[in-house]
Amino acid sequence: MSNPRQSLMRRLRLMRILVAAFVLCGLTLSFADFTGAIASNLKWLARIQFMPAVLALSLWTIAAILALTFLFGRVYCSLVCPLGILQDLFFFFGRLFGVRQSAAAPGSRAVFNVVRGALLLVFLAGGFLGLHFQWLEPYAIYSRFASVVVSPLARMGNNALAEWAARNSSYAFHAVECVAPAMAVVVASAGLAAIAAALAVWRGRVWCNTVCPVGTMLAGAARVALVKPKIDGEACVKCGMCARACKGRCIDVEKGRIDLTRCVACFDCGAVCGKGAISWSK
Ligand code: SF4
Ligand code: SF4
Ligand code: SF4
Repeated sequence: MSNPRQSLMRRLRLMRILVAAFVLCGLTLSFADFTGAIASNLKWLARIQFMPAVLALSLWTIAAILALTFLFGRVYCSLVCPLGILQDLFFFFGRLFGVRQSAAAPGSRAVFNVVRGALLLVFLAGGFLGLHFQWLEPYAIYSRFASVVVSPLARMGNNALAEWAARNSSYAFHAVECVAPAMAVVVASAGLAAIAAALAVWRGRVWCNTVCPVGTMLAGAARVALVKPKIDGEACVKCGMCARACKGRCIDVEKGRIDLTRCVACFDCGAVCGKGAISWSK
């Protein structure tokens, strides 16, 4: 039987999953819905994305995301960013199919930190010079994937259904226009999404904590988050279950510490801790 703290964490985790599923499905539909009926109601999901808000100088959205991060850590990375949610999905499937995920190698963290800082500098320098490093920006990666891979597939699927239905004297489906995107763009878009997904299967949120410039920027605010996950040293029996469940690879069980710059506020650790040793508090 789970203790009250673990039960609370499980509920928070479930809520996180439901919200994230809505955001991922909604954003994908906003690109793939060729009827236009649903997509028009989901456009607001694009407006709450960090980099689109920066490029549009949407100060309220930027302030809200930063305030959320200063208050609760990188909740944005668990709930709002489609590329992050996609990685969680592949992380989950990796576990489901028994992929043995690598733990962070001792000493590798410093290397990852250097790469992380360097990529952020490249991204920012590119921005100031007017270059758009879209292959690093999470929303650009996901939206391109959804529009040049998922959307054409949805149209092709619909047209195949329409053809099959017509052969059976049914007009429940109607063929829609399907323009094939350039193959190079399809390969690049699918390739980037596949790399992030494969890394997630291998090592959880390694893309988020090494490559993504938005994640690195938010990590600065998350470092001083007001409400954060903590390990109760008295209750912890150092079983290591939380560290194995952690997609951010940010729990040091021996020292009883959590690296807030890597934590993506997913509640997975608290949900698996049968001792109720993990809480979210000031
Ligand atoms: S680190 Fe980047 S890719 Fe990962 S969830 Fe956050 S914003 Fe998205
Ligand atoms: S799962 Fe709980 S008891 Fe086990 S190491 Fe983590 S905090 Fe400690
Ligand atoms: S420490 Fe790890 S498992 Fe716990 S909330 Fe942060 S990322 Fe998730």
